[in-house]
Amino acid sequence: MPTILLVEDELTLAETLRYNLEREGYSVLTAADGVHGLELARREQPDLLILDIMLPRLDGFSVCRILRQESDLPILMLTARQDEVDRIAGLELGADDYVAKPFSLGELLARVRAIMRRTDRQPVGNREVFDAGLLRVDTGSRRAWRAGAELTLSQKEFDLLTCLIRNRGMALSRDVLLERVWGYDFLGDSRTVDVHIRWLREKVEEDPGRPLYIQTVRGVGYRFEIPPQ
Ligand code: CA
Repeated sequence: MPTILLVEDELTLAETLRYNLEREGYSVLTAADGVHGLELARREQPDLLILDIMLPRLDGFSVCRILRQESDLPILMLTARQDEVDRIAGLELGADDYVAKPFSLGELLARVRAIMRRTDRQPVGNREVFDAGLLRVDTGSRRAWRAGAELTLSQKEFDLLTCLIRNRGMALSRDVLLERVWGYDFLGDSRTVDVHIRWLREKVEEDPGRPLYIQTVRGVGYRFEIPPQ
């Protein structure tokens, strides 16, 4: 049974989420502060971490940053404010996804299912290696390099880069990227794609403000190009 660690200090919300996640067939661990959450994440090695940002003792940003240096544990952040969404993007925390409060239960469960499905779906022994300009992506080891230096990419960033590079030269709409990378029908918030593209550009582009690889296709989405050397 997949295990989810839920770190949330609003006890009513935590109990509602626990009840519904358990009904979905997940085993749920809970922590009500960041320090305890971090401790449980390390000790119990859950399959997914649902992490609130405003937490007693240690905030969600710090927990995310610390864990990301230690593991690939998928992290879904719960945000309550717009400035938190901006900070998730700005700090390159490596969170896999976020849901803004107030969210519907259906929305949260859809994100959780998508992350679980994606994690289970990692192909075994089905390897593709892409060389594109200074970049190299190896889907077998799930590693990527720029000019020989390994990139630290979150799971989502890696999947997004792979999707773009596999379809290089083609304009991919945000909807297509959501479907391919996030793996479910995602209505509305195409900003999720833009946020992840921004993180990815910070890592793969020499000048993220003037991207050469990941180009914006106005009114559509993005296109991967190999810049002339
Ligand atoms: Ca909170």
